[in-house]
Amino acid sequence: MRSTAKYLIGFFGSFLAVVVVVFAAHLSSLGAAVSAPKGKTAATEKTRVVTSIQPLSFFVEKVGGEHVDVTVMVPPGANPHSYDPTPGQMVALGRAHLFVKAGSGVEFELDWMKKFTGLNPHMAVCNASLGGRLISMPEEEHGHSHDHQHGRIDPHFWLSPRNGILIARNVERSLAEVDPSRAGEYAENRKKLEVQLEALSAEIARKLSGMKNRAFMVFHPAWGYYADEFNLIQIAAEEEGKEITPKKVRRVIEQARRHGIRVVFVSPAFSTLQAETIAREIGGITQPIDPLSDNYIDNLRRATDAFVTSMQ
Ligand SMILES: [Zn+2]
Repeated sequence: MRSTAKYLIGFFGSFLAVVVVVFAAHLSSLGAAVSAPKGKTAATEKTRVVTSIQPLSFFVEKVGGEHVDVTVMVPPGANPHSYDPTPGQMVALGRAHLFVKAGSGVEFELDWMKKFTGLNPHMAVCNASLGGRLISMPEEEHGHSHDHQHGRIDPHFWLSPRNGILIARNVERSLAEVDPSRAGEYAENRKKLEVQLEALSAEIARKLSGMKNRAFMVFHPAWGYYADEFNLIQIAAEEEGKEITPKKVRRVIEQARRHGIRVVFVSPAFSTLQAETIAREIGGITQPIDPLSDNYIDNLRRATDAFVTSMQ
């Protein structure tokens, strides 16, 4: 844990740096177009894009191709439910043309988006889940738990190929708005990606068809949209970002036994201690699956194979 003082110095240091960068950008734009639209880039320049989380960078790179320069805020292995940006990232943000957010309630975005757009008011913002159906976090199976927030939106919108198609469309629209001269190219790239995502969705559905047992257990509840698309039951040990109580651990063990579950899937960014306790109690194992990979298609394929094996 860092001290508050150090944090404040870091934050205001980066704030100053961003002010300088933004001010310099204003000066240099004085000689250019009189009223450049929000986030617009010159035709020869790459569009500088910042995304909150890694999977979104996959979509920007696929749709934007060689015309984008992508930076990710939450680095590999960090937890988007609690990550704070570095001063260097704040400077990159000050130079960005476009920010792509999940828009589905990721804590990092809830905590930081206002500051980001405040520091760089010229930056366009793409809401990757715009027009999508947001679902609620899984509810308790029995009665009412009093430390449970009912109706909280599940932020892990990107983890379903159907939603991936929507993300690609939203990213395409934003890139075309920031850089209209390449709109045709972005549309072409997006269509190619859409074909791949349709094929991925069909492939996953095929692999899961005929599975009688359709329940899988994850420690962190990241796979609700995936379960929703493919008609599976996600049993989650943890509620969004919280340590689980011994009582909840006992209840989860009961659920796992009832569903004949032997694998507890864990996310790389989270502690696996409690997951291992649960796995030991059910005579099973823990196995990692990554909800934040930037290798989107291969990762969903890998996760599917792991789910299939665990449900057999
Ligand atoms: Zn999460």
